[in-house]
Amino acid sequence: MDMQKYNELKMRMARLADLGAATGLMAWDQQVFMPPGAAETRARQMATIGGMLHEMGIDPALGTLLEALNGQIGDLDYDSDEASIVRVNWRDYQKAVRIPPEKVAAFFGAVGIARPAWAEARAKSDFSLFQPHLERLVDMQIELAELIGYESGNPYDALLDFYETGLTYELISGVFSAVKPQLVELIHAISQARQVDDGVLHGSFPQDEQLALGRTVAGALGYSFNHGRLDLSVHPFTSASSHADVRITTRIDETFWASSLMSVIHEAGHGIHAQRLDPNLYGSGVSAPGLSVGESQSRFYENVLGRSRAFCAWLLPRAQEAFRGRLDGVSVETLYRALNRVQPSLIRVEADEVTYGMHIMLRFELENAVINGQVKVADLPQEWDARMEQYLGVVPPDDAQGVLQDIHWSQSPMGYFPTYLLGSMFAAQLWDTMQVERPGTRAEIEAGQFEGITAWLTDKIHRHGGKFTFPEIAERATGHPPTSEPYIAYLRAKYGEVYGL
Ligand SMILES: [Zn+2]
Repeated sequence: MDMQKYNELKMRMARLADLGAATGLMAWDQQVFMPPGAAETRARQMATIGGMLHEMGIDPALGTLLEALNGQIGDLDYDSDEASIVRVNWRDYQKAVRIPPEKVAAFFGAVGIARPAWAEARAKSDFSLFQPHLERLVDMQIELAELIGYESGNPYDALLDFYETGLTYELISGVFSAVKPQLVELIHAISQARQVDDGVLHGSFPQDEQLALGRTVAGALGYSFNHGRLDLSVHPFTSASSHADVRITTRIDETFWASSLMSVIHEAGHGIHAQRLDPNLYGSGVSAPGLSVGESQSRFYENVLGRSRAFCAWLLPRAQEAFRGRLDGVSVETLYRALNRVQPSLIRVEADEVTYGMHIMLRFELENAVINGQVKVADLPQEWDARMEQYLGVVPPDDAQGVLQDIHWSQSPMGYFPTYLLGSMFAAQLWDTMQVERPGTRAEIEAGQFEGITAWLTDKIHRHGGKFTFPEIAERATGHPPTSEPYIAYLRAKYGEVYGL
C-alpha cells in the first residue's frame, strides 16, 4: 500500500473527526447547559460546521485517494486497522457522495419546521398539525432512497442501510417474523398470570440520592469518570467526542428510582463502549459502531446484566445505603421481580423487556408500508392504534400517546427503529456465548466483579469501533450471524420463571 497516500487519508480523517468532536460537544452543551437564549446562534454555529464536515467528507480528492487505496488493500489482512480504515471509509464515501449537499440542506430545512410542528401536534394531541410536514419528509426520503440506490426493489432498504450497513427489509423481517408470534404468545400468557408488585421501586427518592447511586453503579460497571461525567437532560443520551471524553445523561423521577438508575446503566453501556475503543482508531473515520451493535451494549448492561437476579443481589445493599430507611427489609427476590414486571403499555420508552419488541415491530411495519406507499401518512394514526390493540391489547386514547409519541419521524429519515430491537436480540446472543466461554459470569456479577465481563465485551466488541458490519461483528463474537433464537429462549426462560408459566 502507498504509505504516503495512506498517511494523507489518516490526516484527512483526523481533521474530520476533530471538527465532528467540536459539534458533538456543542450538541451535548445544547441539551445540558446552554442558556435558552442561545438556541438560535448555536443552531447556526452547528449548521456552519456541519456544512464544512459534509463538504470535506465528499471532497472529490478524498474520493480519488480512497479509490486508489482501496485497490491496494487486497494483500492486507481484512481485519487489520489499515485495510479496515480504507475499506470502511471508501464504503461510507460512496454512500455520502450520492446525496448532493443541497438535498441534505433541504431535508434539514424541512426538519427545522417539522420538529416544532410535531412538538405542537403532540402537545395538542392533534396529528393533523404534523401530517403535512410528515408527508413532505416522507416524499423527501423516497427521493433520498432513489439517490442512494437499492438493488432489492424496496426503497426502505436504502434508508435502513444508511443507519446500519447491510440491513435490509428482508433480513430484518425474517428475524422479526420469527419473534413476533412468540412474543404475542408470551405477553398473553403473562397477562393471565399472577401480576408482579413493583411497589418497592416507588416512594420518595430525592435527586441527589439517585444520582449518587447512579454514579456508584456506572463506575462499578467500568464506566470511567476520569473520561466521562453524568449530568441531567430531558432525554437521556451519550455523547462521545472521543474515547477520552464520553459523557452520559439521565433524567430523574423522584417518585420512581428504577427509572433513572436503569437509564444510567443503559447510557453507561453506550459510554463504556465508546471509552474502550482502541485509541489507534480515534480520528480514523471508523471509530463509531453501527447502531444495532451500539444498542446491543446498552441493552446488555441494562437488561441482561442490570435486570438479572445476580445483579439485584449486588445492587440491593447499595440501593439500601443510598436510600436510607426506605428499602429496609426488602429481599433480593422482591427487587428482582419488581425490576422485571411486565405490563403492556402505550409508550415505547417506558416499555418492559418483553413488550418492547412489539413497539418496534409496529414501527418497522409502518415505516416500510409508508415508504412503499402501502399506507398513507394520513392513515398512520388508525393503523397505529389497530396494531397496538392487536399486539398489546391496549388502545391509545389520543395521538399524543399513540403515533405522535416519538420524536424520530420529525427529525431523521425512517429506518432507525429496527436497530433498537436488533440490539436487544444481539445482547441475548452475546450472553449465550459469554456463559459458554466464561462459566463463572453469574458468580462474578453477584460479587460485583464486572471487569472480566466488560473486558470480554471490549475484546469482542468495544475496541473495534466501526471496523466491522453488524453481521461481521456477530460472526466474530459468537460464531453465528445475528439470530433471534437466543433472545426468545432468554425471554421465555426468564419471564416463564418470574410469572410461573
Ligand atoms: Zn441506547
